[in-house]
Amino acid sequence: MPRPEIPRAIFITFVAALAVVALSACQADQAADAVVDAEMDAQHEEGDGDHELHWSYEGDTGPAMWGSLDPSFAACDDGVRQSPVDIVGATAGGGSELEIRWQPGDAEVVDNGHTIVVNVAEGSAISLEGREFALLQFHFHLPSEHIVEGSASPMDIHFVHAAAEGDLAVIGVFMEAGEADPAIQSIWEAIPASGESAGALAAFDPSALLPEGGSHYRYPGSLTTPPCSEIVSWVVMTEAIAVSQEQVDAFAALYPMNARPVQPLKERTIELKN
Ligand SMILES: [Zn+2]
Repeated sequence: MPRPEIPRAIFITFVAALAVVALSACQADQAADAVVDAEMDAQHEEGDGDHELHWSYEGDTGPAMWGSLDPSFAACDDGVRQSPVDIVGATAGGGSELEIRWQPGDAEVVDNGHTIVVNVAEGSAISLEGREFALLQFHFHLPSEHIVEGSASPMDIHFVHAAAEGDLAVIGVFMEAGEADPAIQSIWEAIPASGESAGALAAFDPSALLPEGGSHYRYPGSLTTPPCSEIVSWVVMTEAIAVSQEQVDAFAALYPMNARPVQPLKERTIELKN
């Protein structure tokens, strides 16, 4: 089905929120690229004018410092529904109200300096509680950002979807060590070499990366990277997919640690949906 029309003002807000975490999500759309460029220029002028906002996973620009790196990152410090979280005490939440309608399409693999991102073709979407969200991209964290009862998985995947209203729904899938995964292998082989901008992935089916069964955790949260915008409906699948230790090691060679620590749950509850 076609990607829904997104009103321009809302789209600009949405792109601003995603500009840092998922700049490459917009590469399918040159108009969106122009918006991103304008947004980055605006950030330049508001900042010290010398360099782009820089954040990382360690040291002076690591997660504990994100909120003070720039006023636009304030939610990282003072937000009330931040992600990721430790999934404990989930309450039975009844039916899933989640329908995943992903389809094969040509994709591109990008290294955005924080992770490996796969930008997908238009046409994949989900319905969540009766609302439509279009799949834009998915990317990887090592170790997993969400943890369950204190335990992290070796990696996780975040499938980023956007609604016409500008908010996001992200599906998290844990990756556990086991057999090698052929879909992951095809992505790793398409990671651009240094100096290349993007690798091509023909007729890639993101559904190949979904675990068996639709059981998942659901809670309201945020982007897990600056600006930590609190616009995400999180769906974390209870079942994991298997990848080989060699596949984890290959990612670790590029990004040995790109996971934000878990954040306080505060007033939220986590629902378990079947
Ligand atoms: Zn992520």
